[in-house]
Amino acid sequence: MKIAHLNIYQYDLPVKNGPYTMSYGEIFSLDTTLVKLVTDTGVVGWGETCPLGPVYAEAHAKGARAALLEMAPGLIGTEVLPLSVHRQMDNLLHGHNYAKAAIDIAVFDALGKSLGLRVADLLGGAAMDRVPSYYAIGIETPDNAGRIAAAKRAEGYPRLQLKVGAHSPEVDVEVIRKVWEAIKGSGMRLAIDANRGWSTRDAMYISRSCADIPFVLEQPCSTNDELRQLRPLLHHPLYIDESSYDVNTVISAAGSGLVDGFGLKLTRLGGLQPMTTVRDICAARNLPHSCDDAWGGDILAAACTHLGATVRPDLLEGVWLAAPYIDGHYCGESGLEVVGGHIDLPKGPGLGITPDEALFGDPVAAF
Ligand SMILES: [Mg+2]
Repeated sequence: MKIAHLNIYQYDLPVKNGPYTMSYGEIFSLDTTLVKLVTDTGVVGWGETCPLGPVYAEAHAKGARAALLEMAPGLIGTEVLPLSVHRQMDNLLHGHNYAKAAIDIAVFDALGKSLGLRVADLLGGAAMDRVPSYYAIGIETPDNAGRIAAAKRAEGYPRLQLKVGAHSPEVDVEVIRKVWEAIKGSGMRLAIDANRGWSTRDAMYISRSCADIPFVLEQPCSTNDELRQLRPLLHHPLYIDESSYDVNTVISAAGSGLVDGFGLKLTRLGGLQPMTTVRDICAARNLPHSCDDAWGGDILAAACTHLGATVRPDLLEGVWLAAPYIDGHYCGESGLEVVGGHIDLPKGPGLGITPDEALFGDPVAAF
């Protein structure tokens, strides 16, 4: 079974009750890129990549489409097998994992549909059918953050992530304390995510000021040099997210003992195939991690959920979906939702979802 056609679409995902706020800015809507892969046997697979604006990572929406246009003609005729397609993509373009991820996901979807297997089964087999999620509280005042934390605890989320790094360190400590008051004793786990927004000075101050609160500190500073300097001075476990660029940086961070866990992004690492490698490295080192993407619609949500279902359950920090923050679905009834803080693994073959293609309009390009 070979790749016969590739269509590339652009679609805007609206942010519900926007903007969504992080240490470096506000997001009102997201420009997502979809790939429709048609095989020579007529099977259709879908993929997606959705950079979180142009400054979150070394990725942006127009860059994703440019990279896909560069690779697509050379992918026609390639066997619909994940490693074969990755080898061919690497022959055609160096880097640009976030664009390659969209093709990778479409390949798994098509392969699963042709074999009658869920993507989770292609990835080695699901360990669960109901996958835990976590809720990310954006930059908020202490009182608002506390209120949201209490509501999400009541909803059944097993874990919260709190965005910090835009206020002063003193206010960040107040916000963290308010959230902890709201969830203390509930068993709900907490991650404090600065998205690279702190200096080592601020990170040390906040970790010391909150030494009594059991949270994990996610990507407090930008560079691994800063994190290495910080690590022995922290009172909290250290996770990286943005600075795990690819499989190689994950191996280095895991092997050198720099981190206690990861926030992992499917598209940053290049898709499901490289993510399974990282999943297995993390399992070998007993390192917990999430299975997320920075943003994205139903296709990315389904891909992250299938992958999350295959992670050793005691190491899974949850699958974050953009779904609760997005207005509507492009997959209609089959669109993924977080219910009671968990996500049901889609049942059908492949990703188990069907996008409403009519919503996407004419393709940006077709090969
Ligand atoms: Mg993060």
